[in-house]
Amino acid sequence: MKILLNNQTLIHKLRPFNDVGFVPTMGGIHEGHISLINRSKKVCKKTIVSIFINPKQFNNKKDFISYPANIKKDLSILKKIKGVNFVFIPKFKDIYDSYKPSKIKINRKSKILCAKYRKGHFEGVLDVMDRLTNLIKPSKIFMGKKDYQQLLLVKNFVEKKYKTKVIGCKTIRDKNKLALSSRNYLFNTNDLIIAGKVSKKIFALKKSINNQKNITKFLLNEKNKLQKMFNINIEYLELRDKKTLLISKKISKSKIFISYYLNDVRLIDNF
Ligand code: AMP
Repeated sequence: MKILLNNQTLIHKLRPFNDVGFVPTMGGIHEGHISLINRSKKVCKKTIVSIFINPKQFNNKKDFISYPANIKKDLSILKKIKGVNFVFIPKFKDIYDSYKPSKIKINRKSKILCAKYRKGHFEGVLDVMDRLTNLIKPSKIFMGKKDYQQLLLVKNFVEKKYKTKVIGCKTIRDKNKLALSSRNYLFNTNDLIIAGKVSKKIFALKKSINNQKNITKFLLNEKNKLQKMFNINIEYLELRDKKTLLISKKISKSKIFISYYLNDVRLIDNF
């Protein structure tokens, strides 16, 4: 496993290879990231993982400062799992001083879910993904369905501009059904139990949703109940079409999307 700390080394080391699988991360490596790496190892000749906490995608300074970072631990996990050929750990200037992509704008239709509540977030994500894709030139990028809206936006953007394919991979959960996330490192055991209970409730809710006459009203009611039951603050709880992300009135081809705050930590998931 080679550690690449700047663009020059990256470009030099990747030059001989034409089938590189890329797993972009912000560190805090967990089994969710590892599942993306395993998928890449299966289908690509070489695998590169990036660790870069991209300041431009944080709309909240406190969230950026408290984002869990532990490069040493991440590297030791990546080394142990074997088969990661390269880890790219760029500095801010490697990403932002090398290439000037066109200004990224998200259209009004897409200002839903996280785009509505995190102003500038996806612009920051698309910008960094443009720069990383341009540098690495991977044949495939592996991303999690856990961040479903991000996956659709990046796929649409990258596949239009590059030859690269973006592959969505399933969400990995802990034994309590909580989706793994680097932000879970900010929780104590009790928080983790509560977040697991929220997930279980939504899995149950998904089963009962088809019997409802008015799904929007039903979800609003459930949102209020969940907030009281678990002392959480829900931003959105919505049923949306898997492809278009438009509000849906039936469970088939749709997903329930949630974002909520538990003790000041923002979690997102979809079911
Ligand atoms: P992050 O480090 O949180 O920016 O995530 C890097 C990549 O890992 C993104 O494509 C995420 O969607 C993906 N990811 C994060 N959590 C999970 C999970 N629990 N299961 C599968 N993929 C995940």
